Amino acid sequence: MTSIEMKDLTHQYVMTTYGRFPVAIDHGKGAKLYDGEGREYIDFTSGIGVTCLGYGNEGWAEVVAQQARKLNHVSNLFYTEPSAKLAEILCKRTGESCVFFANGGGEANEGMIKLARKYSFDKYGKGRATIITLRNSFHGRTITTLMATGQDVFHQYFFPFTEGFRYAAANDLEALEAAAGDDVCAVMMELVQGEGGVLPLDYEYVQAVKKICEERDWLFLVDEVQSGVGRTGSLFCFQQYDLLPDVVSFAKGIAGGLPMAGIMANEKCRNVLGPGTHATTFGANPICAAAALYVQEQLDDAFLAEVKKKGAYLREQIEALDLPCFGKTRGMGLMIGIEVAEGYNKSDIANKLIEAGLLVLTAGPGMRLLPPLSITKEEMDKGIAIMKAALG
Ligand SMILES: *Cc1c(COP(=O)(O)O)cnc(C)c1O
Repeated sequence: MTSIEMKDLTHQYVMTTYGRFPVAIDHGKGAKLYDGEGREYIDFTSGIGVTCLGYGNEGWAEVVAQQARKLNHVSNLFYTEPSAKLAEILCKRTGESCVFFANGGGEANEGMIKLARKYSFDKYGKGRATIITLRNSFHGRTITTLMATGQDVFHQYFFPFTEGFRYAAANDLEALEAAAGDDVCAVMMELVQGEGGVLPLDYEYVQAVKKICEERDWLFLVDEVQSGVGRTGSLFCFQQYDLLPDVVSFAKGIAGGLPMAGIMANEKCRNVLGPGTHATTFGANPICAAAALYVQEQLDDAFLAEVKKKGAYLREQIEALDLPCFGKTRGMGLMIGIEVAEGYNKSDIANKLIEAGLLVLTAGPGMRLLPPLSITKEEMDKGIAIMKAALG
């Protein structure tokens, strides 16, 4: 199909929930994407942190094809090998105890919220169901996770929302205390706020919140839907904060481009969601799990160290351009935010770059870059050159 054909058909038959950029993608290789006419784009988005191994990865495609031929799906009422192996690897690499597999980030967070409320209900009974989340956070698009999201713009139209969320400013222990109460069962946060603008939380703040949670038997819940699976240069971001969450969610990059998500829980929480309390039809799908196993094989320590180096390189190169429209960069690993200078508009900048052949994202008040973790130096340099030409 030509780009025009893809766009026209989409406009006619797909709901208009997305404000799309005017680009129609046909295929990709490495960190490069190609539209219907074969025009090349350097990809600094990876499907919003999904395609961690890039596009057209032969090893990944082979694993997916083999598993598709062998066993495409079986209900969770039976046992299968790929998801069991994947759960083992995730636990062994993080210190968590067990996994529940879901299909997307919002759904994984729903499971995490259910677990926290049931943990508290089992131990203390009703009336202790409130979860404190952070201002500027993003946790999903379901009726409950919209409410967990600490941004008022998301609390519109869909009333009534799920009760039981209170918000505290990030990096502010006083704000946390102000939101505290006898009705609280958990605190939930992203360690690097993604949609909010790529804002890493302070190390000391996170440590202090974890300690408060332990003292009051609140569960410490971490949303690593965006920051997990190597994105920040460690398998999970919490490993760089030197702590083990009671429950942590993951999604986006886990299977390198197939829909998969989940939550991991520590020993204290392993038996909270017993038979009949939580389920999903597609969760632990063997093809997705086989793809995720392949991703885990690739994301060894050497690969993760490279992610950190590449992130540092990309930030240095961007700051060295000294573009009038950009301020400082921030982030961890290949989760990068760029401040937009006064008088410039983030969407205009994104449109200019995309027109020039570099796909980028925006987040909060600035730009956001989430390139494939496998991006090469040549591909990064090409992206930087496009930035210089388009914005210099
Ligand atoms: C993307 C995202 C979600 C939602 O994930 P979906 O797969 O779109 O449901 C939740 N939390 C964070 C931090 C995210 O970045």
